[in-house]
Amino acid sequence: TVKLGLFNTSGDLMEKWEIPTVTEDDGKAILPDCAKSILKKMDERKMDRTEVVGVGIGAPGPVDSEGTLYGAVNLGWGTMSLKKELQTLLNMPVEAGNDANVAALGEAWQGGAKGYEDVVVVTLGTGVGGGIILDGKILLGAHGIAGEIGHIGTGKSKKNRCNCGNEGCVDQWASATGIVNRAKELLRENSEPSLLRGKEPLTAKEICDSAKEGDKLALQCLEDCMEPLGKALAYFSHSFDPDGYVIGGGVSRAGEIL
Ligand code: ZN
Repeated sequence: TVKLGLFNTSGDLMEKWEIPTVTEDDGKAILPDCAKSILKKMDERKMDRTEVVGVGIGAPGPVDSEGTLYGAVNLGWGTMSLKKELQTLLNMPVEAGNDANVAALGEAWQGGAKGYEDVVVVTLGTGVGGGIILDGKILLGAHGIAGEIGHIGTGKSKKNRCNCGNEGCVDQWASATGIVNRAKELLRENSEPSLLRGKEPLTAKEICDSAKEGDKLALQCLEDCMEPLGKALAYFSHSFDPDGYVIGGGVSRAGEIL
């Protein structure tokens, strides 16, 4: 889904909603669908274009400071000016960024990183994303790829390659997908009893819940999957010396057990 939110200029969330992400046809419909939904919401609330300071969009791919996206594999998108295209559809000011980077900006403005100048934000969802804030500003790097914590190599090999083409990325372990895949491997490799046996479909939430109940196999699974993330965060500590880390995304709801 595409998640949308209406905020006032103090950063208070006034309303949130979501629309389906239609990835058929190289995701051609996604931006027009977003624009339609935004305009519909403004219409419902009788808001005029002049009342809107701007629209921000985060996309799952590298985005540079000009708002150009260098491809989003999961959506079927190639290189495009995300900022300009949405601006044309809406006729309002638009800013665009990488999804994890804009999440980091949000956390720094009104969330878990509020008040910190140097912070690393990690999102654990279907994939692993990251954003680095240094001196209160997001670090983009030369191509908008800085902070891609999900694709740091862990040295722990995997049979299948990551979407990025490499092998053993943090994403292949610490994402919801990685956790489920690891649990399936462990279930195949040994015969000890586990709350996870026979669960179909197996989800990351189920694995975290079973670990909380002391299930040995689920605990082993989280140990295997979170250790690479811990190591990657240690690399960041040595590189950027942040005040702290904010861990968000669906998987983070499991809390301390991670
Ligand atoms: Zn990767």
